[in-house]
Amino acid sequence: MSLKDKDLAVFRALEAEQKRQTEHLEMIASENLTSSAVREALGSRLTDKYAEGYPGRRYYGGCENADIVEELAIERARKIFKSDHINVQPHSGTQANISSYLAVLDIGDKVMGMDLSCGGHLTHGHPLNFSGKYFEIIPYGVSKEDSCLDYENIREIALRERPKLIICGASAYPREIDFYRFSEIAEECGALLLADIAHIAGLVAAGLHPDPVPFCDIVTTTTHKTLRGPRGGMILCRQEYAAAIDRSVFPGNQGGPLMHSIAAKAVCFGEVLTEDYRKYASQVIKNAQRLAEVLLDSGIELVSGGTDNHLLLLDLRSLKMTGKEAEALLQSIGIVVNKNTIPYDPEKPFVTSGIRIGTPVLTSRGMKEKEMEEVGEIISGVLKKPLEKTLSAASSKVAELTGQFPLR
Ligand SMILES: *Cc1c(COP(=O)(O)O)cnc(C)c1O
Repeated sequence: MSLKDKDLAVFRALEAEQKRQTEHLEMIASENLTSSAVREALGSRLTDKYAEGYPGRRYYGGCENADIVEELAIERARKIFKSDHINVQPHSGTQANISSYLAVLDIGDKVMGMDLSCGGHLTHGHPLNFSGKYFEIIPYGVSKEDSCLDYENIREIALRERPKLIICGASAYPREIDFYRFSEIAEECGALLLADIAHIAGLVAAGLHPDPVPFCDIVTTTTHKTLRGPRGGMILCRQEYAAAIDRSVFPGNQGGPLMHSIAAKAVCFGEVLTEDYRKYASQVIKNAQRLAEVLLDSGIELVSGGTDNHLLLLDLRSLKMTGKEAEALLQSIGIVVNKNTIPYDPEKPFVTSGIRIGTPVLTSRGMKEKEMEEVGEIISGVLKKPLEKTLSAASSKVAELTGQFPLR
């Protein structure tokens, strides 16, 4: 029986979501649009299968096809990331981080991570997150002058505190991360180094951001952000941590892997290995940089003054507007973004002084620099002059753009 006939309420919500995505400019930096092949794998029969264990050593019968897709996912991921060992089972980026920390740390160990308010992630030591509850967190931030990572300051903190693990990587950092520099610091203070590339994995995969793999003991990522696959996580590590990582994922922190999602990861990795994907990733960055130029030209301030990757952080203080207000205003004309703290934000995390915007989804819809110019003008117009007239003209322009670039 079709979903529509069986469950009209859910069917209608899914239809409404299809319409919402079609009619909005989705600019949340952590989102993307999967291909129909990825979604087909996600909707496959593998969702029914229990496959605890790893290929060739499962705790359930009937895993021969589960083994094929998991091996394909690992093999393709290894072609992309050239890591000694790869685990594709984490259900999410958070699961990848939990499993990695518990593979190499004891509860209470000292860990250095980037502060959430400066661009880090909840799982890098936020007090309400497992990471902040189970470990002694020493946060590092960005420079007050240029909002960039201050490696000399990070080195000083690391040498003073001697953490067992340093986490690098971020959720809202528009600049390149120097993994080599982090590895020198980790080596000098005797810490392990973990890079969490959840946001930038696709750029790394395409060779457009420096690769952490040669310099880090462990690299974690999501598969659904710039990488453009299903929601999920993945861990890459040096051979010496392979057994500990695998044990920590299963049976340590998860039961049965989501085999439909692993099949979809395999499909995604196959796509990432194509020249089309490399062009896509390169366009994501070009689009973000063009958008940054247009916003800067219109007088809007950007944290760090621009971007090297797929995202921008707008500093709204000079517009006398909060992130919360800007998010609602843009939502009202069909542009979806999220409020985000800026470094050393005077506002509360639920209010904030910034918004984070990213180009992965619009680029997946086929938009290029020319459209970014339009989008930049719409955003700056609305933020600078939120009058009835500006808003209705902006809504029409958004509708025109979304009409020209259907969902893939
Ligand atoms: C998104 C993100 C995660 C978490 O991913 P989930 O799949 O939402 O759990 C972890 N680390 C960083 C840096 C992220 O940006």
